[in-house]
Amino acid sequence: MNQGVQNFERSFDLLIDGVGTASAGDATVEVINPSNGQSYLSIPAGCDADVDRAVASARLAFEDGRWSELPTSVRKRTLHRLADLISDEAATLDAFDAGEMGKPIGEVLFNATAAAALMRFYAEAVDKLTGDVYPGDRYAFVAQRRVPRGVVAAIVPWNFPTYIATLKVAPALAAGNCVVLKPSELSSRSAIRLGQLALRAGLPPGVLNVVLGLGQTVGRALGLHPQVDMVTFTGSTDVGRRILQYAGQSNMKMVLAECGGKSPHIVFADGVNLDVAAQAIAKMLVTNQGQICSVGSRLLVERSIGATMLAKITARLSQVVIGDALDPKTTFGPLASAQQCARVMRYIETAEVDGAQLAAGGRRVLQETGGYFVEPTIFSSVSPAARIAQEEVFGPVLSVITFDDEAEAVRIANGTMYGLAAYVWTRDLTTGMRIAKGLKSSVRINAVAPVGEGAGHASSYEPANQSGCGTEGGLAGMESYLRRQRIWINHG
Ligand code: NAD
Repeated sequence: MNQGVQNFERSFDLLIDGVGTASAGDATVEVINPSNGQSYLSIPAGCDADVDRAVASARLAFEDGRWSELPTSVRKRTLHRLADLISDEAATLDAFDAGEMGKPIGEVLFNATAAAALMRFYAEAVDKLTGDVYPGDRYAFVAQRRVPRGVVAAIVPWNFPTYIATLKVAPALAAGNCVVLKPSELSSRSAIRLGQLALRAGLPPGVLNVVLGLGQTVGRALGLHPQVDMVTFTGSTDVGRRILQYAGQSNMKMVLAECGGKSPHIVFADGVNLDVAAQAIAKMLVTNQGQICSVGSRLLVERSIGATMLAKITARLSQVVIGDALDPKTTFGPLASAQQCARVMRYIETAEVDGAQLAAGGRRVLQETGGYFVEPTIFSSVSPAARIAQEEVFGPVLSVITFDDEAEAVRIANGTMYGLAAYVWTRDLTTGMRIAKGLKSSVRINAVAPVGEGAGHASSYEPANQSGCGTEGGLAGMESYLRRQRIWINHG
C-alpha cells in the first residue's frame, strides 16, 4: 500500500486567495473509497458564498494584472516550476486519485506524470500565440491582439482528476487568465494539491482558486456567476447542456464543453492485423475501467470476422488483474462510486431486453471487499438502435455490431447523438481516409489514445454533435482562453 496515502490528513480546506479557507457553510461530502466501500475522507460541500469569495479573488487578481501583466518569461518560468512540482509529486497525486475514484496507481494513461508534461507544453506556449495585422488602405492600420478572457471557471469530472484539471488550468493560466477550479466531489484532493503546488511555484495568490463541493451548488453558482467570463467544462452531456443554459441565463459567458461519447471501433476484414486491433480495443476498454470519454464502446466489425474478433477480445479481457486501485499490481480497479456501479449494472441487466446477447463478463465481482468491481463485459448481436449502443454507459462494456459494407459502417458509426472519437482498423489507408471523411468525430486509424508528449499534447480537437462545443488541446485549444480584440487606427 502506498505510504503517501496513509499519511495524508483526512480533511482539508478550500483554496481562496492563496490560503486554505474553511467553507462559509458547514455541510460536508463524505468521500467513499471505491475499492472497499469504506468512508475515506470528508470534504467541505462549498456553498454560494464560497463561490462569491473565490470569484472575487480571481476577479481582483485579474484586474490588477498581477499575473496577466507579468513578463511572459516570468509566467513561463512559473508554469515550468509548477510542472516540475507536479512531476515530483506525481506518485502522491496518483494515489489521491486512486484512493478517491479508483484509477489504478499502476496506470500510465493520463496520470500525473502526463499532467506535468502537459503543464510544460503550456508553459512553453505562454509567448507563442501572437496577434495579427491585416491589409488596410493607405490610412488604416488594422491589428488584432489576443487578450485573456478574465475569470475562468474550470468544472471538471472525476475520471482523470489530475490530468483533466491540468488540461483546463494550464492553457487558461498560460493565456493570462485567473481561475476558479471546481473538481468533482468524488476526487477533490489532487485539485487542492495542484492549487498548493501552484502557490509554491510562485503563482500569485488569487490566480488559481479551488472550491470543492457538489455540482448542483458550487458548479451551478459558477455557471451562473456574472463575474465569471468563461466556463471550461468537461463532463456529461446532460450537465454540459446545463452549463450552456447557465451562460444564457446570466452574462453570456464563453463556454468550452467537452462532454460524453459513444465512440466506435470500425474493423475491416481486409487483412488488417486482428491481434493488434483486438489488443488495443481490449486494453482501452479496461483502462480506467472503461471510464474514458473517448473509450471505444461500440465494436463495428465486418460480418465475416465478427466471431474471430469477439474471441480475440474476450481472451484478452480475461487477463486483467482486478483489485484495489492502490495496489501497484492492479490493472483493473473498481468503478468510481456506488452510483456509477449501479448505473453500469443497470445497463448490463437491461441490455438483453433489446435482443443483445451477453458474450463475456456481466457480473459484479469481489463483492466481499465492499468495492464496486464490475467485470469487463461484452454484448454481441447488438442492434445499432439498442439503448446499450446509443447511450454512454461509461464503464467496461462493449457492444458488438456487425456490418456488411462501408456505407453501413459509416451510417452506424454516425448514428448516435455523440461525435467524440472513432477508431478505424484497416490495412488500406485509402479505406481509412474514406471512412474518416464520412465521420463527424475525430478519427484515429490503426491507433488508440496517445499517451504523453508530442502529438498527444500538441494536437487539438473539437467535438461534434452533442459531445460538446469548442476546441481543446494544443495551441488552438489555448486560443479558446483568449479573446480577439481588433484595434483599428486611421492615421493621416
Ligand atoms: P458530470 O457531468 O456528472 O460532472 C462533471 C462536473 O460537473 C463535476 O465537477 C460535477 O460536480 C459538475 N456538475 C454536476 N452537476 C452540475 C450542475 N448542475 N451544474 C454545474 N456543475 C455540475 O460528469 P462526471 O460523472 O464527473 O464525468 C463523467 C462524464 O464526463 C462522462 O460523460 C464522460 O464522457 C465525460 N468526460 C468527457 C471528456 C471529454 O474530453 N469529452 C473527458 C472526460 C470525461
